Amino acid sequence: MVNEEWYPPRRRYWKDATQKEQDIPGDLWVKCTDCGTMLYRKEFEKELRVCRKCGYHFRLNAWERIAITVDEGTVIEYHDNLEAADPLDFPDYKDKVRKAQATTLLKDAAVVVQAEIEGYPLVMAVTDSTFMMGSMNSVVGEKITRAMEMGIEKRLPVLAISGSGGGARMHEGLLSLMQMAKTSGGAARLRKFGIPYIVLLTNPSMAGVQASFASLGDVIIAEPGALIGFTGPRVIEQTLKIKLPPDFQSSEFQLAHGMLDAVVPRSALRATLAQLLEFFNG
Ligand SMILES: [Zn+2]
Repeated sequence: MVNEEWYPPRRRYWKDATQKEQDIPGDLWVKCTDCGTMLYRKEFEKELRVCRKCGYHFRLNAWERIAITVDEGTVIEYHDNLEAADPLDFPDYKDKVRKAQATTLLKDAAVVVQAEIEGYPLVMAVTDSTFMMGSMNSVVGEKITRAMEMGIEKRLPVLAISGSGGGARMHEGLLSLMQMAKTSGGAARLRKFGIPYIVLLTNPSMAGVQASFASLGDVIIAEPGALIGFTGPRVIEQTLKIKLPPDFQSSEFQLAHGMLDAVVPRSALRATLAQLLEFFNG
């Protein structure tokens, strides 16, 4: 169950941005984005926001994701005060960031915590698609890299969870693009120091994020039905003038093409991660 009780108080808000319009007044029922089935909210929350009819996995924001993944009461957050600068004086960027901060109560699109899963300690970096599509800027790249450095320092496994559809954030230009190199360097250092690096890809994981830290895990798992790729299918179809298969860039497609190690339903994620941590611990 998505338990909001133990979030830090200022985190108690979230709703899936994609869900909002579908919600029925009174909040008792939720309509499945995919198949249209009406889901009783209490059951829906218990089932970790997965449609019981078609298995559609609703998006979770970073804190909801952390809440369903780790052991209750084990979370320590790090680097939560890092904020984006506006180095290019990009039109409206400051306003956009301020708005995203107001609606998500995050400073930027990534959260770094130390926590435990089934008693196994780890460092986690989670990106949040409700904050400017989880796009990677100097703050997101820095936080992910710091999480990796903390893993090395404390000799703890690192889990990166991507909910990033925005790739590198264009408002910070080259500084955003450089985060691809920086986080990739972080992943290489994890390998050098023998620290396990696990990646969980959720819907969506695209572009610069997917082309850097999100595809470099020792083990890469994904939730069912997530969109995972570099350039989106629409742009590819328009540019190359070809028709792509309907499941193109889905988790299942990527698994079949050797890009993933496993597709794991949300209900089994905690157990799978615990199993991996136990394996790496041994
Ligand atoms: Zn459904």
